[in-house]
Amino acid sequence: MKTNTRLLHDRFDGDKKNTGATLTPIYQTSAFGNATAEGLEAIFRNKAAGYAYTRIGNPTVSAFEQRMAALEHGIGAVAFSSGMAAITSLCLAILSTGDEIVASAGVFGGTIGLFADLQAFGITTHYVDACTPEQLERVITEKTRMVFTEIIGNPRLDVLDLPEVSRYLKEKGNILFVVDNTLATPVLVQALEQGADIAVHSSSKYINGSSNAISGVLVDSGNFRWDTEAFPAMQDWKKFGPYALTAKLRQKVLMDMGACLAPMNAFLNSLGMETLGLRMERQCSNALSLAKALEQMDGIAAVNYPGLDSSPWHETASRVLNGGYGAILTARLGTRERAFQVINKLRYAVNITNVGDVRTLVVHPRSTIYAHIPADACEHAGVTEDLIRVSVGIEDMEDLIEDFEQAVRAK
Ligand SMILES: *Cc1c(COP(=O)(O)O)cnc(C)c1O
Repeated sequence: MKTNTRLLHDRFDGDKKNTGATLTPIYQTSAFGNATAEGLEAIFRNKAAGYAYTRIGNPTVSAFEQRMAALEHGIGAVAFSSGMAAITSLCLAILSTGDEIVASAGVFGGTIGLFADLQAFGITTHYVDACTPEQLERVITEKTRMVFTEIIGNPRLDVLDLPEVSRYLKEKGNILFVVDNTLATPVLVQALEQGADIAVHSSSKYINGSSNAISGVLVDSGNFRWDTEAFPAMQDWKKFGPYALTAKLRQKVLMDMGACLAPMNAFLNSLGMETLGLRMERQCSNALSLAKALEQMDGIAAVNYPGLDSSPWHETASRVLNGGYGAILTARLGTRERAFQVINKLRYAVNITNVGDVRTLVVHPRSTIYAHIPADACEHAGVTEDLIRVSVGIEDMEDLIEDFEQAVRAK
């Protein structure tokens, strides 16, 4: 199956067994009764398939998880109440005191915050400017257990050479390669096929598409071999073979820490993701057209978009991404005042700190998402005072370009 067919048909059967409904219904219930005590015991002992309590499993949530696993070509997926809950749960599942993480400096702000919080538990994070074998080689130690990075950095819009880093880490051994695929989505990159061990998604963004539910997902390739000397936290779970991590996430992490996805939100995601392929196709092509149009406009100092020849990551993006360069671009307006002025004049782009909506969104990163980040870190991330970030939507291109033209022209 190709992507759009997969989005509708792979590991999906709606409610065939019961009613024939074309979408899995919203099982808006906390717990599931069983006809017999033996039956419920079998579920708790993993001797029988079934549901007991929504924190651990719910049919609407399972339907979404299976579709995510199919889309990312993973062996299993576990959904959480947010993207941050997914990343937190992963760290708590596999890491122990004394372990080290290596991450790229440009990762999502919440992720950097989480890694700083882990320091209190004796887990240290080292950052690299760019996730390349050369730079990783300088910070990886025998205590490194996880490399965490994003495929398209935000707002720097650098693109990861996923296969190259994967090859390097496989040679090193015992380092889990985790890739946050939120911005590229599985439509542009099948992260696990290209060599990531785990794909992370904030499904609050493109997967959902309409910004109507917060959620996160971890998808496991099943390829990582858990050496229990390096990963003592996986000792009791190794017996599940390739399913070790998904089993632990569900039966231990969701069970004990409880950041489960609500059935209603799982339903909204399942609904949204059916059009992911169409939306990405449209949003990527709109982003490329808008980037080219902005490059031509007077009053714009620079445009950054991986689809432009001028992007330092254009070559890598053309190799790693499939069918588009993502739907986020940035532009420099010269001064902070000009950046604010343009944001205030735009009629369609909503001024908001989000990405991945069907609507075009615009934000001034330095005064919002980066308001509390030190100046040198901002500079490193390419967040200047005159920068605006645009998450391009599905509007008609003519209208979007005209809107940006009038906003840039206005004094
Ligand atoms: C939004 C985002 C997150 C966090 O996800 P939430 O669902 O908001 O918790 C993580 N990574 C990336 C790349 C994001 O854009």
